[in-house]
Amino acid sequence: AVVATDLTPLERLRRESSLVAAEASLLLQEIANLTHGRARVGRDWEKAAKHFLELLARNHGADRACWYLYDFDGGLCIRGAEWAQPGMESPPDVPRQFPLDQFGKWVEKLMVGQYIEIEDVSRIEEPELREILERRGMKSVLAVPVVEGDRCTGWIALYGVRARQRFAPEVIEAIKVVAETAAGIHRLQKTRDELEESHRKLTVALEESERLRLAAEQASRAKSEFLATMSHEIRTPLNGVLGVLSLLEADPLPATTREHVQMARDSAHALLTLLNDLLDLARIEAGAMTMVKQDTDLLELMEQSLAAVAQPAAAKGLTLMSLVDARLPARIRTDPARLRQVLLNLIGNAVKFTERGRVLLQAGLAASEEPEICIRVRDTGPGIAWMEIDSIFEPFQQGCARDEGGRGVGLGLTLSRRLTELLGGQLEVVSEPGCGSEFSVRLPLPKWDATIAAASRPLAELQILVLDEQPWRREAICWQLAEWGATVRVEGLAADCCHAVLAGPGFGEMLAHILEACAARGSRKRPKIGLIVAMGADREAERLAMKLNAELFVEPLRWRRLLGWLRSDAAASSAAPALQLHESGQTVRNTRVPFVLIVDDNAVNRRVTSALLEKLGCRTETAASGEEALQRMAEGRPELVLLDLEMPGMSGLEVARRVREGQAEGVSPSLRLYALTAHVLPEEREKALAAGLNGFLAKPVSLEHLRQLVEECFAGTGPG
Ligand code: ADP
Repeated sequence: AVVATDLTPLERLRRESSLVAAEASLLLQEIANLTHGRARVGRDWEKAAKHFLELLARNHGADRACWYLYDFDGGLCIRGAEWAQPGMESPPDVPRQFPLDQFGKWVEKLMVGQYIEIEDVSRIEEPELREILERRGMKSVLAVPVVEGDRCTGWIALYGVRARQRFAPEVIEAIKVVAETAAGIHRLQKTRDELEESHRKLTVALEESERLRLAAEQASRAKSEFLATMSHEIRTPLNGVLGVLSLLEADPLPATTREHVQMARDSAHALLTLLNDLLDLARIEAGAMTMVKQDTDLLELMEQSLAAVAQPAAAKGLTLMSLVDARLPARIRTDPARLRQVLLNLIGNAVKFTERGRVLLQAGLAASEEPEICIRVRDTGPGIAWMEIDSIFEPFQQGCARDEGGRGVGLGLTLSRRLTELLGGQLEVVSEPGCGSEFSVRLPLPKWDATIAAASRPLAELQILVLDEQPWRREAICWQLAEWGATVRVEGLAADCCHAVLAGPGFGEMLAHILEACAARGSRKRPKIGLIVAMGADREAERLAMKLNAELFVEPLRWRRLLGWLRSDAAASSAAPALQLHESGQTVRNTRVPFVLIVDDNAVNRRVTSALLEKLGCRTETAASGEEALQRMAEGRPELVLLDLEMPGMSGLEVARRVREGQAEGVSPSLRLYALTAHVLPEEREKALAAGLNGFLAKPVSLEHLRQLVEECFAGTGPG
């Protein structure tokens, strides 16, 4: 028995599929060329379509092949591409476009994805159709729909022109595959067209936005320059106002006049704060505010900030206290000036709005995933209503709580938040009316090392007795001492077992008893006594300190000083206790009279600065221009020159340059030159230092600033 199988169809199929594969790979190459080559779309599509129509026709024995595309909007069909054996092209009178309904039911079939095969055109039943096809010289037709996704976008047709032809079913499959791939090209081209269009629009939009950016930058620069000029111009007369006020204050005045002078000074300071805040905000907005980070002693910075509000807080009877977590590193990397500015704003507000109670400044670790430092400013003030919480961070927005003087304008918190963000942190607030407020500054702590931090227990093994009638303050002091490792008691500690006693002035008698008891027991060890007194405490406290041989600590407590005192081995023997109570006189304690030349084109400022310096015991001369300054320097030989930078004619910088370069006849190139200017931007400072000035004082200048300067320049240069 024999089983015979005809392998012809199988063999044919194999051949067809290898052809299809070859065609597909050619097509893919075309696609690649088209998409990467970025040639013009319409022409390329037609070229590629023609290319594979040729492939199709040649491989399947067709005389002509066409690709038709639907134009649904126009109800048309367009012959997009054609390939034909020479002399067998579509007749020239056959239009490239024709109405869709010309082929009625065939188009419908194609649209639903069916193919059409007509082996013999002359046997088509519909006479109109037959005539159309015959007029185009067709004997056989195979039409296969081109489907893109789920949409039929046209069809590909193969024609037998010379003779009737039967296209094998596998060929239909092959065309379908090729058509799909080819349709891919079309789709890609359309996408690329769209992309090119969006690219063009985007380029136009980018050009426009670049133009707007430049305009905005120019406007912002103009604004910053305007503000800098304004600031300079306002500072100049303000220097006169504040200078005259501090001269007045230094004189004996009737009480009401003194009060008026103080009010005028407070208002002038409020104006100055406003000016500084506006300038800072403008610089932040212009992106010109840069942070200068350096290793910073956090506790020192906190204590300095508290000290700045000590006076107004003492006037209201508020307790100020700083506390630090002992695990925090002693130094953190930040911009100290900007962090101080933020803390001063927050503490300033807390003191301003709190009438009774306390303001606490506490630094600790935040409970977050990344190590973070959290500096809290907590007060017992009026609190903030929830609906105000967000708005108070907006510029010029104020809450229900207002300071009585009405001097705030609502910029402090805006500025503080922006500065904290520039420092890489966040500023938040938690508050409730009647329950006080807590503002917290969270800053990243990149190099925090828990093991090193845990080792910071400077008071380990010390026993300390804390006596304070105010429970809150007592607890706070105990907490901090314990944090640093001390064993702290508030009562019942035998005096001779303890290392130190810290007490308020109300405990004078008890302290005397403790010391007597020590002496009576013949105890060799006598505890150190530290007296904590409010700022502005009277002579009484000083006397008590002398009597008990005690160290005086003025509130707000300076922990560094207290730590040093507690750890020093010397017995309580401080003979000069009133370290901070009474400022030494304001004049410079030199018998020699320093000679200062003041150079300023503004007559009021010349007079004010020279009066302030004379109050400090200096001899002064003035010059109204750079040229006059050089002359005075040569003739009068001053020891210090205060130079205004912006003057008509020769500027202060030019004067400095000439002196330093030895071009000023009769003037020593190493003469001390300080800028005294209403320019406050860091760039100006750098310019001044680059021009050879020894230092920079910003207007308005206070008596205190001048005193520091004169001491810095002439300390230790007295007779001999
Ligand atoms: P200013 O103090 O100049 O009004 P700020 O921006 O510093 O401006 O503060 C905005 C507002 O936030 C204040 O007017 C006040 O109502 C509210 N505020 C700020 N700090 C406190 C605080 N510690 N307690 C109560 N209210 C506060």
